[in-house]
Amino acid sequence: MSVIDDVKQKIEIIDIIGQHITLTKSGRTFRGLCPFHGEKNPSFYVYPEQQSWHCFGCNTGGDVFSFIMKKQGIDFGEALRELAQKAGVTIPSRFEPGAESEERQKLYQINQAAALYFQSMLNSPAGEKARKYVEKRGFTDETVKNFQLGYSLNSWESLKKYLAEKGYSEKEMLDAGLIIEGEEGKKSHDRFRDKLMFPIADTRGRVIGFGSRVLDDSLPKYINSPQTPIFDKSGSLYAVNIAKEAIREQGLVVIVEGYMDVITAHQNGFNNVVASMGTSVTERQVNTLKRITKNITLALDADAAGEEAMLRGVEFENALGAEVKVVILPQGKDPDDVIKEDAQAWPQLLAGALPVVDFTFNMVASGLDLATAKDKSLAVEKLLPILAEIKDPIRQAHYLQKLAQLVQVSERSVEAALSRLKIRPRRAPIEPKPEVAQPLLSNRLEEDCLALLLQHPEIKIKDDELLPEYFESSQNREIFIARQESAKIEELRDGLDPATHEQFDALLGRSLSPNRIAQKYVEYILRLRERHLRGLEAKIEAVLAQEAESGGKDAELAKLKELGIEVSIKLREVFTQKRQRQLEQGG
Ligand SMILES: [Zn+2]
Repeated sequence: MSVIDDVKQKIEIIDIIGQHITLTKSGRTFRGLCPFHGEKNPSFYVYPEQQSWHCFGCNTGGDVFSFIMKKQGIDFGEALRELAQKAGVTIPSRFEPGAESEERQKLYQINQAAALYFQSMLNSPAGEKARKYVEKRGFTDETVKNFQLGYSLNSWESLKKYLAEKGYSEKEMLDAGLIIEGEEGKKSHDRFRDKLMFPIADTRGRVIGFGSRVLDDSLPKYINSPQTPIFDKSGSLYAVNIAKEAIREQGLVVIVEGYMDVITAHQNGFNNVVASMGTSVTERQVNTLKRITKNITLALDADAAGEEAMLRGVEFENALGAEVKVVILPQGKDPDDVIKEDAQAWPQLLAGALPVVDFTFNMVASGLDLATAKDKSLAVEKLLPILAEIKDPIRQAHYLQKLAQLVQVSERSVEAALSRLKIRPRRAPIEPKPEVAQPLLSNRLEEDCLALLLQHPEIKIKDDELLPEYFESSQNREIFIARQESAKIEELRDGLDPATHEQFDALLGRSLSPNRIAQKYVEYILRLRERHLRGLEAKIEAVLAQEAESGGKDAELAKLKELGIEVSIKLREVFTQKRQRQLEQGG
């Protein structure tokens, strides 16, 4: 039995969730106020028999691991370690995060060593210029310490010599991007010289790379570490390690562009701010934050807030399964300026954040004369493709209405225009959807499907066909999510918590027949979806039966019944698809 299964067996979901919220027994289930959305009437249920939970208010659920992950904003590995401790299960040291490949470990170490070196240089006599600069920017000693700011000497080899003395090889320095290879026989040299240094850490606080800024007005103003096995700028967020707590507490993260913006914000008590370190936020960054909060506000530059940024906003919403908000900074100012001029202007600015789609409406409408036919169709032309991207059917319908009102035509003609865009209408409600955990430890169907996906990197997982919540085991779900993000086995394995490696290797090594791969994949999708829907149906029925007995509130019951109908419609769709496949195969 794996460590993960062992932990699952030894803990009782009621005990764990009961430590976080008050649960009342209600028939075979327990109910309480959902900790994930504000509510006065409890719609959060725990199912001891399946060792799972579900909230019908925010339509989300999972097993005990996913509860802890969501409640505390931590990743799978952290949740596992916490629960293992409670269960009295010892996790073998080979599963500790430190047991990562030696190469990666070395890279974290060398970056950490460099960060300490830069820090000490800032306090050395040679660091005077940098100290003056930091002072001029208004950063306090505490801030400098908190962000581990440093200084790289105006020298070609000082870091290189220091690291060599510490026993690091030149190859390791090169791999970490701390030195640059010399051209044609020349010696390699330090990448960062005479710069203010900003160590960049991952969510666990490990230094993965550096940002740096010149101390004068020369260009380029900023230089970052290159891409390395542990650092990818488009997937990292500056200060996420420092802001994590505040983000979780406030249930909101604000993404700004630059290092200085983040530091000034934090120094003024706005601790939920992180930086994208570039003009555009990436989906990978959104995915990193998703674990901590689903409420994201983008603080955009007045110039960068173009239509492209708007379209990306909807992409992020789809990835998050939640609305993304936008604030536009005053022309020519960045958050650093805004906060320095008047710290109270910042919360005021944020209070005016608009959902990204509403914002897009304003932007498009402001440049048009909507009394004219020409501009009406222009507005539709610009907005419709954006609305077509919205996955959540309710929100999509809302904005279609809004568009119809804006241009004062019937909703039907807007809808007709939408279907001409040939976007498949999506009837399914958006993520997150619940999973149904069963007491079964081995989960053959999930594993068969995952083994197929891991051994056939050529299979492209399309949006919506296979969802993470179809995987009832958190461990399998983690592996599936990693496979969604990358089909490259090495990369995929590295991205996973070491505690899941055992399972991962077993799946990769499972012997599969080489025939009918594509068909098998479709079959797995249908079977997993069917199982997921059946489980959901059973959960709804259990609650309905109980509520009917105890006389629950009519409105709530009606909502649940509606959900039940939705589920059975989708189940019928699955049956139809299965039948069609049988007919096609002549069976
Ligand atoms: Zn809820």
